Amino acid sequence: MDLKDHIRCIPDFPKAGINFYDISTLLAHPDAWQVAMGRLAKQVAPHAPDVLAGIESRGFLVAAPLALKLGCGFTMVRKAGKLPGPTVRHDYELEYGHDAVEIQTDMVEAGQRVLVLDDLIATGGTMGATVDLFGKVGAEVVGAAGIVELSFLGARKHMEARGVAVHSLVAYDS
Ligand code: AMP
Repeated sequence: MDLKDHIRCIPDFPKAGINFYDISTLLAHPDAWQVAMGRLAKQVAPHAPDVLAGIESRGFLVAAPLALKLGCGFTMVRKAGKLPGPTVRHDYELEYGHDAVEIQTDMVEAGQRVLVLDDLIATGGTMGATVDLFGKVGAEVVGAAGIVELSFLGARKHMEARGVAVHSLVAYDS
């Protein structure tokens, strides 16, 4: 099965010049979604993660079913101010301005192996910040994965230079 057949490209969303890769059509197709989760599970299982971390918000849709499949814990990486209780925060720079991500302090233990998931890996900025965030609690990010990778943006090179293996199911190189 070619998963690209189930991922919709919406030109000029959310602004002119951006091709938005929409996984709604993949999620809506139960067979294609099963295949996607099966392939991703095969790619990431060798990292023997303890915890799968989903990046808000579409990363939750990928990480939660995969965690169930692999028998791992699942935890949320959210924008600042959304998670209750004690949290750890990491601020990072964007092309214009800055942003911050948070996790709940007690959701991961020092030394645990974390695998980070999102629907799509673009510049890898959010994933890079997430690696720093888990580093603050002493956890080790052993890999990062997404359904889609925009390979022309070079996130893979940056992540691998930091010792984080990158996996994706489909890639677009322009
Ligand atoms: P980045 O931090 O640049 O890797 O951005 C990744 C985040 O932005 C992911 O959470 C994606 O859901 C979203 N994103 C960025 N570019 C696109 C795109 N072309 N199509 C769909 N989602 C995108």
